[in-house]
Amino acid sequence: MTKGNREDPKTGSRMERFQQGVRKHTFLAKKKVQSITKDDVKSYLLRNAFVLFTVIAVILGIAALDSKASGKMGVRAVVYYMSTTIIAVLIGIIIVVIIHPGKGTKENMHREGKIVQVTAADAFLDLIRNMFPPNLVEACFKQFKTNYEKRMFKVDISSNDTSTVASILSNVSEAMETLTRMKEEVVPVPGSVNGVNALGLVVFSISFGLVIGSMKEQGQALKDFFDSLNEAIMRLVALIMWYAPLGILFLIAGKIVEMEDTGVIGGQLAMYTVTVIIGLLIHAVIVLPLLYFLITHKNPWVFIGGLIQALVTALGTSSSSATLPVTFKCLEEINGVDKRVTRFVLPVGATINMDGTALYEALAAIFIAQVNNFDLNFGQIITVSITATAASIGAAGIPQAGLVTMVIVLTSVGLPTDDITLIIAVDWFLDRLRTTTNVLGDSIGAGIVEHLSRHELKNRDAEMGNSVIEE
Ligand code: ASP
Repeated sequence: MTKGNREDPKTGSRMERFQQGVRKHTFLAKKKVQSITKDDVKSYLLRNAFVLFTVIAVILGIAALDSKASGKMGVRAVVYYMSTTIIAVLIGIIIVVIIHPGKGTKENMHREGKIVQVTAADAFLDLIRNMFPPNLVEACFKQFKTNYEKRMFKVDISSNDTSTVASILSNVSEAMETLTRMKEEVVPVPGSVNGVNALGLVVFSISFGLVIGSMKEQGQALKDFFDSLNEAIMRLVALIMWYAPLGILFLIAGKIVEMEDTGVIGGQLAMYTVTVIIGLLIHAVIVLPLLYFLITHKNPWVFIGGLIQALVTALGTSSSSATLPVTFKCLEEINGVDKRVTRFVLPVGATINMDGTALYEALAAIFIAQVNNFDLNFGQIITVSITATAASIGAAGIPQAGLVTMVIVLTSVGLPTDDITLIIAVDWFLDRLRTTTNVLGDSIGAGIVEHLSRHELKNRDAEMGNSVIEE
């Protein structure tokens, strides 16, 4: 229903024009209601859950750095977390670009016009700008880079022929049509989650966490506050997880019915699954063991052998947080890693170091782009890598948290967030594999940080009269 298709209101009888106006009005009103229920309500819930998740998890993770370990150990751990996460993201991107599991999408699925392309420099500069929002409160609300006002003037509300009901209805219809179209053409702010500037919030949370961490006792009250807020959200999430299978059941059922429409066919989903598995295997079986060997000069397979129980638990629970007690046990009791290291590296790692999740987020976002026949430019690929890293930091160590935070990656490059449902059918399985990779990444990190910190640990032992921290 574009302007060009519209019949001239001056032709036909008044009654015809009136009926035409009513029909158009009803159709557009229906469309509007559908899009409100589909996008607004769902994304509102998702957005708020995500923003709380991200802000609190990051503040807590960062604030924990100073109180639980020496600065040097903290820096080593963070360097390890960031570099392995970035490597994981790059593997995800390279492998999905090479294998191209999303190819073969029907031509008629080309969703032209849904994205307004931005240049690489634009995307990059916007990303930097959005890292430092001028107004934090504003950053929590929808912000779209579109010139609504300018387009509004294109709607000729003050038509000459205002004397008939039909022309008024027709004008209203056109206004609504334009609004719907604008909604589809909106360019999301890079690094935003359904319009919320999540990246800016993440950067703020990191800074805030650092400050709280440096405040020692004075910051304790704030730490306790965020701790208990975190606990409350975790409980809320645990409640939601009870009815999640039911929701997912309906989502999948709906998706299967729509399969023809979505253009995602079994073959693409299978290829996507294989691609994720290959990416995770490269990271878990090649990159992480190699890194461990290069830094510690010890046999990585002996170290990984001691972690079997934790890895199997991760596979079974799909949750790095739930696996944490077993990870502690394996590292401390079987691999003999110093408790001062594990008690700092593991809890922070379970919150912010998720290699598997980061790899999957980048890969899945590009798969969704491929399915939609969207060609991502270089700037958008950089955006995907940065937001995938941020989204993995923000994801909680619970089942399918990565699926929620993936909204940040999709929105940052203007991909339809609804398309998460395309990959939901296989996520229960892929979640287990990426959780196992996450736990492996945290554990190898503990081994590496212990090796690099051995001198400080020894000196400390000597200072303390050789008393290694027990309980
Ligand atoms: N389930 C993952 C974990 O607990 C997070 C994710 O969904 O990627 O580590």
